[in-house]
Amino acid sequence: MLRPALRHPSLLASIATGCVYFVAASAALLLSRFEGGLAFIWVANAFLMAELLTSRTSYWPRTLMVCAVASAAATALFGMGLMAAAPMAVINILESLIVALLCRRFVPDHRVTGSIRSLAIFILALTAVADTVTGLLAAGVAASLTPVPFAASFWQWYTGHALGGLTCAPILIMLLQGELGRWLRKTPRHGKVETVVLLALFALSTVHIFYWARYPMLFAPLLPLVLIAFRVGQMGAAASIILLALIGGTATMSGVGPLTIIPVPPGDRVQFFQFYVALSFLLSMPIAAELHARRRLFRMLEESETRFRAIAEHSGDIVLNISVAGLIEYASPSAHEQIGCAPELLVGQSAANLVDPQDRAVVIAAHRRALIQPGSIHKVEFRPLVSAGDLDWCEMVTRAVVDEHGEPNGVVSTIRDISRHKARQRALQQVAARDSLTGADSRRAFLDKLDAEIQRTRIGARSSLLLIDIDYFKAVNDRFGHGAGDQVLSAFVARLRPGLRGVDSIGRLGGEEFAILLADSDIDRSSLVCERLRILLEEPITVGGGQAIRVTFSAGLVELKGDADRSVLLEAADKALYRAKHSGRNCLRLAA
Ligand code: GH3
Ligand code: MG
Ligand code: MG
Repeated sequence: MLRPALRHPSLLASIATGCVYFVAASAALLLSRFEGGLAFIWVANAFLMAELLTSRTSYWPRTLMVCAVASAAATALFGMGLMAAAPMAVINILESLIVALLCRRFVPDHRVTGSIRSLAIFILALTAVADTVTGLLAAGVAASLTPVPFAASFWQWYTGHALGGLTCAPILIMLLQGELGRWLRKTPRHGKVETVVLLALFALSTVHIFYWARYPMLFAPLLPLVLIAFRVGQMGAAASIILLALIGGTATMSGVGPLTIIPVPPGDRVQFFQFYVALSFLLSMPIAAELHARRRLFRMLEESETRFRAIAEHSGDIVLNISVAGLIEYASPSAHEQIGCAPELLVGQSAANLVDPQDRAVVIAAHRRALIQPGSIHKVEFRPLVSAGDLDWCEMVTRAVVDEHGEPNGVVSTIRDISRHKARQRALQQVAARDSLTGADSRRAFLDKLDAEIQRTRIGARSSLLLIDIDYFKAVNDRFGHGAGDQVLSAFVARLRPGLRGVDSIGRLGGEEFAILLADSDIDRSSLVCERLRILLEEPITVGGGQAIRVTFSAGLVELKGDADRSVLLEAADKALYRAKHSGRNCLRLAA
């Protein structure tokens, strides 16, 4: 959530705050010390609270000092006198500081007027904590310096400060946070005209009730007040409260209006009026705050919806909204170019219909997983059933969308064409599967085939593994050079190939050691094949330099057994090959 920036008040601004504090405090002391003790009205601390709550903490000491001096001066000149000046200054500062600290702690976005929750925190900090604590202290001072008793002093302080703070501080906070400027900038002309008309009507009805009406219709301004809170928002509600306080306050202080019918001293009447204003505030501000929060949420929702549309409509990927049951609820325009289907025709269809049947199960499983784990993203690769161009592999990224209770009510899936990536992957796999010098299978690919063949022997196939190693190959390298040796290796494999069937495989296990997998070939047949291969090498191999080089090989043969794993079979064939080498080379030995 966006935080309003905290202010850096200049020294002049701090001094101005002190002056305002002095004027507000002096006016309250001059006009509302009805019983000669504490003032009945107190809005000076509202200025201080608003100043603290909208500025950085590093500026607090300066502001507090300036206001403490202002408070002491006002008390000394117009209040309980010099003796009370210092303690009352400390108590006033303490009240504002408690409220400011609690709000800073519990309203992290600094928007005291931004929502019902933050307003409630402010109200509790002021009325439940700050005014109770400081009321007791102030009543102690007043009771010891004036004839007003402790309990009466406490209530004078509590009501005056709670009601003054409640009515004025949020309005001042909004003004200091630039809400008025923002409202003026953002409200269209007709909105401003409507506001002026509504406020004028409100002012008129308030004047009517406080000056002209025959009956005490204090409830009457509440209707336009709520209307203004709905139509204009927080600034409208704040302006109404100010109008109500000014018009009603002037009338009450000068002894006219509906409150004059209450047979109580003027101090009590002022307290009643403050209570009335505070109640009006509590009626209108939370409504306005809640509406404001909702409007902001709605705007954010609209922005995010616009962003989603822009991404979905201009992306090359297909974006689908899919229901819990798997039906397409929205398809982005790129569906047309990717799968040749108009997006509106896809709506209502089962998303599984877009997937090749052999991949449907994994795609449906990913959809279900996404619904079960709403916070996470699920990826799956699949082949599409229909494609407009050369789309043959897709990647789908799915994430659940949850409702206001956190329950998934569908998913958003992004489908990306990964055909080229897959083709590259296939090409790389093919390269990795071949030995680059001889074209035989690579060691890795051959061993995979061997594993698969072992599996086949478990269901009855009889196949064999022939391990061969060229004899005295070091000598070939030594005599003709390494290049010639390479050519011999390559030609060696080419010579052997015609002796093998399509189902057989030849792999280079390393150096000049090869392995041949003879599928569906028992030990007798495989021995014959081996001898045929030997015949194929009788002719010398001619290399680039024109030299004719004759090579022979030694071999070890083992028949595959389903119950023996690869390493056991390779070891058996290797031992047989070793025996062949020791028997003079150019021969075959069978595994024991
Ligand atoms: P043996 O009959 O006992 O197998 O004798 P050998 O000389 O073939 O001995 P061995 O199998 O130990 O030596 C293999 C030689 O093959 C050693 C190495 O120089 C050579 N060699 C291995 N890989 C390559 C290759 O890729 N190219 C070439 N030109 N020579 C290779
Ligand atoms: Mg060798
Ligand atoms: Mg060798």
